[in-house]
Amino acid sequence: MASVTFDSVTRRYPGADRPALAALDLSVADGEFMVLVGPSGCGKTTTLRMLAGLEPVDAGRILIGDNDVTATDPGHRDIAMVFQNYALYPHMTVAQNMGFALKVAKVPKAQIRARVAEAAELLGLTQHLQRKPKDLSGGERQRVAMGRAIVRRPQVFLMDEPLSNLDAMLRVQTRNQIAELQRRLAITTVYVTHDQVEAMTMGDRVAVLRDGVLQQCAPPRELYRSPANVFVAGFVGSPAMNLFTVPVLDGAVTLGDLPVAIDRTVTAAAGEVVVGVRPEHLQVADRGFTVEVDFVEELGADTYLYGQTTGPQRAHAVVARVPGDTDVRRGARVTLNFDATNLHLFGTDGARLG
Ligand code: ATP
Repeated sequence: MASVTFDSVTRRYPGADRPALAALDLSVADGEFMVLVGPSGCGKTTTLRMLAGLEPVDAGRILIGDNDVTATDPGHRDIAMVFQNYALYPHMTVAQNMGFALKVAKVPKAQIRARVAEAAELLGLTQHLQRKPKDLSGGERQRVAMGRAIVRRPQVFLMDEPLSNLDAMLRVQTRNQIAELQRRLAITTVYVTHDQVEAMTMGDRVAVLRDGVLQQCAPPRELYRSPANVFVAGFVGSPAMNLFTVPVLDGAVTLGDLPVAIDRTVTAAAGEVVVGVRPEHLQVADRGFTVEVDFVEELGADTYLYGQTTGPQRAHAVVARVPGDTDVRRGARVTLNFDATNLHLFGTDGARLG
C-alpha cells in the first residue's frame, strides 16, 4: 500500500487551446478512497491515465509512496485498473479471468489458486468460479473485474466509472459493496465518476474538477456544508443549490422581500453577492420571501416546488424541497424561509465569502 501524490501535474494534448489538466496538486493518503468527480471533459480520466502511466505528464511529478513514477512505465507502477468496460475474456472461466495477470507474471499455480479463491470469497463469487462471463449477470461480471484487480494485490486501485454499465438498482448495491471492500482491503484507491451521488457516498474525500482545474478536495460532508465556490455549490447536491445574485445596499442584502441576515464585514466592500440556499433548507413559513410556484414535482416522500421570487428585485428562479404531504398547487404563492445558519455567501467571482 502507498500514498499517491500529484505535484503540480499538467497535461496538454497536442493542439489543445487549454490544458486537459492544469497544475494539479493532490495527495491521496495510504489506504484512502479518493473520488475524482466533475462534468464531462473536466480531466478525470486524463488524471487517472497519467497515474497509470498511460498518458504522458507535460509538467510536474507523480509519486506513489516516496517513488517518483512520472517516467516509470505502466507495468512497473504496481497498480490495478478497473474500467467502465471491464472486458473479461469470454472464453475463460471466472477463475481463469481472475488469475490471468498472475499467470502472465508466472506466479506459481498453487498461489494463483489460493489468491483467486480468497478474492472470490470476498466478492461472493466462489459458486461461479467455473462459469464463463456470458453466464453471469452484469453485477457479477463487474465483481469479476474487481476480483481481477484484487488478486494482484496492487499498491493502488484505479477505477474509471466502473459502475456505468449497471442498471440503477445494481449501481447502488455495487457501489456499497465496492466502498465496503475498499475499506476492508485498505488499498489506496482513486475512483473516477461524473455522478456526484456516487462520489459523495463512496469517497473518504472527493476532488471536484472543472475544466482541468481542481476546485476543492474535501470529505463529502465538508463539500456539502462548505463549498469553496459557486461551481462546487451547484455541483454537489440534488436538486442543485439555489444561487441568487443580489445587490448589496448599505451593507445589507434582501432576497425578494426578505432581508437576509449576513455579516456586514463580509459584504461591506461588495457591490453584489451570490446568496446560496439549498432546496432542502427552504421551508414553507408564515414569514419569508414570496415565490410564485410554476411547477410542482411530487416524489412521494418529498415534493419539489419550482418557482420565481416576487418583489421589487428582479425575479430569481427557486427550487424548494419540502415534505411530500405539503399541499401546494401550481400557480400558488408560497412564503419560504430558511435558517440563517444554512446560508452560503459567495463573491461575484464565485469564491466563498467568510
Ligand atoms: P468524461 O467524463 O467525458 O470521460 P473526463 O473528465 O474524463 O470526461 P478527459 O477524458 O480527461 O475528461 O478529457 C479532458 C479534456 O481533454 C477534454 O476536453 C477532452 O476533449 C480532452 N482530451 C481527452 N483525451 C484527448 C486526446 N487523446 N487528444 C486530445 N484531447 C483529448
